[in-house]
Amino acid sequence: MLDKVLIANRGEIALRILRACHELGIETVAVYSTADKDLMHVKLAGESVCIGPPAAGQSYLNIPALISAAEVTDATAIHPGYGFLAENADFAERVEASGFIFIGPKADNIRLMGDKVSAIAAMKKSGVPCVPGSDGSLGNDNERNLELAEKIGYPVIIKASGGGGGRGMRVVHSPAALIHAIAMTRQEAQAAFNNSMVYMEKFLQNPRHIEIQVASDGQGHAIHLGERDCSMQRRHQKVLEEAPAPGLTPEQRKAIGSRCVQACLDMNYRGVGTFEFLYEDGQFYFIEMNTRIQVEHPVTEMITGIDLVRLQIEIAAGKPLSITQEQVHFKGHAIECRINAEDAKTFLPSPGKIELFHPPGGLGIRFDSHIYSGYHVPPNYDSLIGKLITYGETRDIAIARMRNALNEIVIQGIKTNIALHQDLLHDASFVQGGTNIHYLEKKLALHK
Ligand code: ADP
Repeated sequence: MLDKVLIANRGEIALRILRACHELGIETVAVYSTADKDLMHVKLAGESVCIGPPAAGQSYLNIPALISAAEVTDATAIHPGYGFLAENADFAERVEASGFIFIGPKADNIRLMGDKVSAIAAMKKSGVPCVPGSDGSLGNDNERNLELAEKIGYPVIIKASGGGGGRGMRVVHSPAALIHAIAMTRQEAQAAFNNSMVYMEKFLQNPRHIEIQVASDGQGHAIHLGERDCSMQRRHQKVLEEAPAPGLTPEQRKAIGSRCVQACLDMNYRGVGTFEFLYEDGQFYFIEMNTRIQVEHPVTEMITGIDLVRLQIEIAAGKPLSITQEQVHFKGHAIECRINAEDAKTFLPSPGKIELFHPPGGLGIRFDSHIYSGYHVPPNYDSLIGKLITYGETRDIAIARMRNALNEIVIQGIKTNIALHQDLLHDASFVQGGTNIHYLEKKLALHK
């Protein structure tokens, strides 16, 4: 096993990683910006190192500062968490070149999946279903591009190969708008991602977002851990997630899961990862792969009983997967509500001091969070302050427990989006299950 892990992240995921390490008897190093010295995991870590000022560019994204911190504390491995440098292939390379273990995939896997055109090509080769599209990047031949769109059928979407975070995309409804849209997306992609490559896909009108969790040891073994439904989104940001996806059959799960497993084996993937799909009319369409642990991983943990961060650490330590596909059993239902420090109606961030915090409790309740009474939420980072997760033998029980937990939780001093979740947990369509990715935005627009 690894001796000492440096946690190159902050907030709830840093604490989540610290807990997994300590359970395994692994020592921990916390790194923090000057805005984060009072973070929960900084207090709990064996050692801690200040890596710079609040601006992420000078701290959590500062590769030399992170490597130096690992050197001075004699760490064995670096866990990047999610966000920040988690999907930066250059960072993974630098970590390994400096003699540390990167708790994540090899740099070439991150690079392959980070470029959407190359990711889609790899998926097609492995038999993973993709959105009908341009089969590679678009050239500058206008006639050809018009023909292509005609063949795919309008509406189409033009996407940047290097895009991310929901940026660099344009929906086109008619031939008249196509050429200009391609040029504009190209220009934006060049400016934002330093990569002008764009591609075309059919624009799916009312899909759900369903993703498959995988784990692969890079030694010839890979498994899938079922799916999560993350369709409840606002501005491409996930708000509430659940597992399993309402209505998905065991046969469908097995079919798509085994495609993802095959893709992992074909690229000799090492680590945990997520294949994101749009799902419409019973069909899955690959959109991208995340080569890291995800925010919503706990819902999978709750229904499989498998600790995904522990698995990540074991894989990084070179252990072959200890679980076979036959040993993965799905039981019950789990829901996660992302609790953000923001106004529940305007969504404006609400940093500041938490005057009082009281956690919810009871059977089937989990709260992954770094907050405590007296903690100051800094204005510098993402507004996620906790993830409230409930488990039940059935979806109805998970919903009932979530309603209770949202009623019990007390966070005073700052604004949170708890009221939004309370509303959602009583929403008839959500309770029925299976809403599409536009549902939340439409609902919010109606109540303006
Ligand atoms: P990013 O890496 O920026 O998140 P994705 O490829 O994952 O980009 O797409 C982000 C979101 O854009 C999807 O969750 C979906 O809402 C929308 N989207 C992307 N491609 C399509 C498509 N072909 N049809 C419909 N919506 C799409």
